[in-house]
Amino acid sequence: MNENTATFRCSRPPNSCRNRSNNRQCANGMIRQFLKDVAWGPLDYLVVDSPPGTGDEPLSIAQLVGSPAGAVIVTTPQDLSISDVRRCISFCRSLSLPIVGIIENMSGFVCPNCGAVSNPFKSGGGKALALDSGLALLGQIPLDPAIVASSDDGMPFVVDNADSAAGRAFAEVTQSILALDGDIACKTRIETNTRRTTA
Ligand SMILES: [Zn+2]
Repeated sequence: MNENTATFRCSRPPNSCRNRSNNRQCANGMIRQFLKDVAWGPLDYLVVDSPPGTGDEPLSIAQLVGSPAGAVIVTTPQDLSISDVRRCISFCRSLSLPIVGIIENMSGFVCPNCGAVSNPFKSGGGKALALDSGLALLGQIPLDPAIVASSDDGMPFVVDNADSAAGRAFAEVTQSILALDGDIACKTRIETNTRRTTA
């Protein structure tokens, strides 16, 4: 697996990117540079974690990737996130971008002290949305503080936590996507995130 995090700079003068048109051009240029100028080597998948919503960046990515295989929609279970994600689904459909399915993130929390399960962001919203939209539910990933710790350490969470509830949920998501592979024309994925926290 290759992981690539890069910083790109816009060649425009400082402060000239603040209006929407210039901002779109800057974003386009940097995304194009990232996709075209990186020596990716052979890839099984290219996963682009795109910012929340339906703004310029997801649009640029969808247009610049060429023939993306599809979008994986990530939502948290609460109503605010679900309404955002409904717009993402419409956005993908307006671009004729196939939607691989929906992941319900932050779906329940297992207390590390007593094992009690609580639902700080409600639960089941992503599942209900998948049913309502006629889309596949790829999995429900619970909150786990170890995900934060692994991310901060730059380590894939599943390497050391495959047997945890969240680790098993990640495996379920991965298997769901791999199982769809035959239906997907090219091995490229675009991921659109929803807001991960409430205001
Ligand atoms: Zn507890």
